[in-house]
Amino acid sequence: KENLNKGLAKTKDSVFKKLTRVVVGKTTVDDDVLDELEEVLISSDVGVDTTLKIIGRIEKRVAEDKFLGASELNRILKEEISGLLEENNKGDYEAFDLPKSDNPYVIMVVGVNGVGKTTTIGKLAYQFKKAGKKVTLGAADTFRAAAVEQLRIWSKRVGVPVVDQGMGADPASVAFETLTQAKANGSDVVIIDTAGRLHNKINLMNELSKIKRVMDKVIPEAPHEILLVLDGSTGQNAFEQAKQFTLATEVNALAITKLDGTAKGGVVIGVSDQFKVPVKYIGIGESMEDLQVFNRNEFVDSLFS
Ligand code: GDP
Repeated sequence: KENLNKGLAKTKDSVFKKLTRVVVGKTTVDDDVLDELEEVLISSDVGVDTTLKIIGRIEKRVAEDKFLGASELNRILKEEISGLLEENNKGDYEAFDLPKSDNPYVIMVVGVNGVGKTTTIGKLAYQFKKAGKKVTLGAADTFRAAAVEQLRIWSKRVGVPVVDQGMGADPASVAFETLTQAKANGSDVVIIDTAGRLHNKINLMNELSKIKRVMDKVIPEAPHEILLVLDGSTGQNAFEQAKQFTLATEVNALAITKLDGTAKGGVVIGVSDQFKVPVKYIGIGESMEDLQVFNRNEFVDSLFS
């Protein structure tokens, strides 16, 4: 919780200051307040559609409760945003938990280069290992030498095996080998890195579905989780990437990184709402410990109090 407050400090400072300005000298939530609130949310990268949805809900509450004071805006905003996040994050995530199963739980990680994909995989491996789980990594981003090398470094740092056939290897072959080894060594969880080349949507789709087909042959239903990593400091780019990847494959979880470096953490609210995918993890720093399981109430509390 303390780390979360620190990690979100930039967004919190910016949003909080702006909100204070919106209500100063006002007693009721009037149209001016709502207009300014709309600007605050859009400037924090909540996204236009989601912002309008939130404003609509607040408008409705104001209409229902004529005595709603401007001083209550913060509380109402918190309630409405938390409610919105709940629609996609049913049940929330408590810890780095895995569903019980005889087979390894397979996470396929997707996202464009530079968003923090490898770092997130390393942090996840660290957390799962810390929770007593056996982890195997797969270096299926064979397009960049740096990606394979980075994953090797993380595997040593955390102390978990990585299956790696070097740069240029067939990603599907790496995935096949990783799952086979993970099954043989009794792993609880497998985390597979993939190349995120967005230059051609059809290519991306084909590449990812080939990897998926192969996985399913080794472990039924794998991958269980397709985790899209987005850089939270890139605003509209993150929205665009979410659009491309959700079209290309069945993304069912999001990790939003680098929230510590941005005042625009509103992207967490917008992306989840617009693409109907739960935010599962947030990155709030560069070290191994700086990945948290997303909890909507804690998140909203950190931003608005
Ligand atoms: P990839 O190309 O997507 O695999 O990206 P990397 O994992 O190599 O990360 C790119 C850079 O972002 C590295 O310098 C990481 O240390 C940094 N990074 C990743 N996640 C976070 C985060 O949550 N906060 C901060 N401040 N930096 C991060």
